[in-house]
Amino acid sequence: MTHAVCNLSELVMDPSLNSDIDAVRDMVNRFMQTEVAPVMDGYEQRREFPRELVRKAGEAGLYGAAFPESVGGSNMGYLAATVIQEEMARNDVRFSACNNQQGSTCPGAIYLAGTPEQVEKYVPNLLAGVTIGGMQLTEPGGGSDPEGNMKTFAKRDGDVYRITGQKMWASMSNETDVGVLYARTDRDAGAKGVTAFIVEPKKYAGWNAQPIEMLGLSKSMRTNVLFLDDFVVPVENRLGAEGDGFKIVMRALQPGRVTIAGKALGVARACFEEAVRYANERTLRGQPIGRFQMIQSDIAEMATAIEASRALVYKAAYYMDNNLPSNRIAAIAKYHASQTAKMCADKAQQIFGGYGLAQEYRVSWLKSYADLFFTGEGTANVQKILIAEDALGYKIADRHHGKSGLRNVRQPQEQVAAGG
Ligand SMILES: Cc1cc2nc3c(=O)[nH]c(=O)nc-3n(C[C@H](O)[C@H](O)[C@H](O)COP(=O)(O)OP(=O)(O)OC[C@H]3O[C@@H](n4cnc5c(N)ncnc54)[C@H](O)[C@@H]3O)c2cc1C
Repeated sequence: MTHAVCNLSELVMDPSLNSDIDAVRDMVNRFMQTEVAPVMDGYEQRREFPRELVRKAGEAGLYGAAFPESVGGSNMGYLAATVIQEEMARNDVRFSACNNQQGSTCPGAIYLAGTPEQVEKYVPNLLAGVTIGGMQLTEPGGGSDPEGNMKTFAKRDGDVYRITGQKMWASMSNETDVGVLYARTDRDAGAKGVTAFIVEPKKYAGWNAQPIEMLGLSKSMRTNVLFLDDFVVPVENRLGAEGDGFKIVMRALQPGRVTIAGKALGVARACFEEAVRYANERTLRGQPIGRFQMIQSDIAEMATAIEASRALVYKAAYYMDNNLPSNRIAAIAKYHASQTAKMCADKAQQIFGGYGLAQEYRVSWLKSYADLFFTGEGTANVQKILIAEDALGYKIADRHHGKSGLRNVRQPQEQVAAGG
């Protein structure tokens, strides 16, 4: 499959984009309706990780759109990857919980910084959904300053590193086959003291993941507190050189910001669709509640914000696909889409009245995902800081683009390394 070409005005003016993207959208909807919808509730009730579904999603190409064919991707680009996230989240956001680990932050970091042997060994299996991915960065000290608060330490011991410490919110790490974990190798070197490692939790002792009970989030795809006690990583699994870790994670997170904005857009649309359906079905005082003007006001606000978010999210994906400076627009897209998702979830809940709080109605838990997208992969405040500092001229968001800034995962590795 080749990169889906379309121009920006086409993107913003015509929501159906182009036929390639339409085909991707249809394919995802079919997959979610035929493969996921019949079984996902069962996985949730059993609290069982849907490994077989992840493999099927990998086989269908849902994780590899932004990667080249040489590593098992489809080379369709970030717009396709974002639309995939949007439609998955719109259909069943619970099943999209592992998408970033499976198709972005974990394989992305390995593809960006790995040796050809590391890339060949790990990336195709992650994109195919054969192995389960993870990214272990955040620590209890605070996710918005990951480097400043990082205490987990990797001590070199001959041919291995021994890692001890604690990670917070390590999603899927109770299931992870292959992860990218960030730890200090030098306590006094600040950002330059952080190193990235490809970890294989099932091969070595000292990895203890304890799931966290989350309000309204998936019970089958979970996030964890992770305790590391002399956990072994062979030296050949170090990603890049010692001290490269912070640079690698900053690059690996950039695409995740846009695709998570796509997920937020999907959640906003799901809330809107539920609200419209319910407003037409529910009758009070002899008429559908959709006839009440205050309900119409909510519907109008939702529709307007979704259109604006859609334009921003696709624009950010377009910038990434075309190697244009994208830090600022990605921050704007993520901020707007996650705010829209929150607003739509809130309004949908209100339109459902008391039923909006009952677990059997999905608007009750869509709200938790909207909150999550507001926080995960860089909180709303962090996005606002980026946008405002750029506007005020304090720190230009895209100053280093093309030299040492964040790069598109789709760029050839040599360019990534040269830009390092
Ligand atoms: C369900 C879930 C799954 C996750 N999965 C993963 C994962 O797989 N791997 C991983 O590494 N991490 C993961 N995370 C972590 C996530 O990225 C962090 O929660 C996020 O970065 C915020 O960190 P924090 O929760 O420690 O909040 P903090 O960083 O402590 O922030 C607290 C508050 O302070 C605000 N704040 C911070 N700095 C500033 C500032 N300079 N000015 C103004 N306000 C500020 C924030 O916006 C926030 O409102 C996950 C989180 C959740 C909830």
